[in-house]
Amino acid sequence: MTRPTVARVDLRALQSNYRRIAEFLSREPRAAGAPAPRPIAVVKANAYGHGASQVARALEDAGADLLACADIEEGAQLRAAGVRAEILVFGALSVSSLDGLFDGRLTPTISTPGAARAVQTAAAKHRQQVAYHLKIDTGMNRLGFRFDNLRRTLPELLASPNLRLDAVYTHFATADDPASEWFERQRTRFITALAEIEALGATPRYRHAANSAAILRDSRVWFDRVRPGLLLYGIVPPPLASTIELTPVISLISRVVAVKGMRPGEVSSYGARFTAERPTTIAIVPAGYADGLDLRLAGRGAVLIRGRRAPTVGSVCMDMLIADVTGLDASPGDEVVIIGAQGEDRIDVREMASAIGSIPWEIVCRIGSRIERLYDAPVTQ
Ligand SMILES: *Cc1c(COP(=O)(O)O)cnc(C)c1O
Repeated sequence: MTRPTVARVDLRALQSNYRRIAEFLSREPRAAGAPAPRPIAVVKANAYGHGASQVARALEDAGADLLACADIEEGAQLRAAGVRAEILVFGALSVSSLDGLFDGRLTPTISTPGAARAVQTAAAKHRQQVAYHLKIDTGMNRLGFRFDNLRRTLPELLASPNLRLDAVYTHFATADDPASEWFERQRTRFITALAEIEALGATPRYRHAANSAAILRDSRVWFDRVRPGLLLYGIVPPPLASTIELTPVISLISRVVAVKGMRPGEVSSYGARFTAERPTTIAIVPAGYADGLDLRLAGRGAVLIRGRRAPTVGSVCMDMLIADVTGLDASPGDEVVIIGAQGEDRIDVREMASAIGSIPWEIVCRIGSRIERLYDAPVTQ
């Protein structure tokens, strides 16, 4: 059984995006002998709503050797799906049960002294050496060791007998905002921090800093690895532009379940917020806020029906939305594209986000669990 509203996930597009990003990274000249930076494929939050198991395996097939997720539970899910590549956990581990790190052979981020002690204790108990990525807070003031205090906070961590520093990273607060000076400030602080870490005797294999926006913006922050999320899914972080040839991976498709005529002066849906000003034909589409569609789409968004734009009118309901299809000759059963292409037109995630004052990341992450993901290309093993 499949509901009329489905998300189509184009795994070939995903694999192509991965390869195009890798190519883009290899175009920039590097110091002699230095390898091109390589992506860490970010598949947190159910791979941005696309389905973590399928996406991770497709990326692994496309050559990804390092994936990143938000927490130990996500990492365990990736292992259960058969992912063999290294998996980095971004999140703080201070209040988590850590056994899953060992069961899933996951690579932790250590971002606080408390987490450092907890992981050391757990590693000693499991009689294992744990390779970790050290996170430095260069100004975002979220997770990470403060950049200006490393000589005091790091020696204990670096001396932990069961922990081995594999990589050092930071995260930008404003990579998508060309007007903010924080990007440059964080960049220089990170370089200073790297020198201090080296002076403390540590020799990490990798340094990384760039999310999608930073990749597009400044090759000086590519270092050894980069961390694209949104770009992998074929979406360019607004307001930036990209020369990488990317293809959107997810589309959200439904079908008209009913068509009805309204007389002038009649209203539709909760709150009677839409009034027909002329003889109007509306189509009922079985997808609503329980499927992740934002209430603010009402009166602001559009869907594609019969190759044309049909504005969303009235209130978005839990399980339905309403589109004005006057003059489109729509019938029950017609395909409705909520995100994606139909005919010559396309509604992309960036457009939907800007129509409702949201961001593309939120739009894709919110596509509901009720919506079945249909994968267009089988993963080749
Ligand atoms: C989510 C995340 C990314 C990816 O961000 P995009 O903007 O989607 O590319 C990179 N690094 C960290 C630490 C993240 O949490």
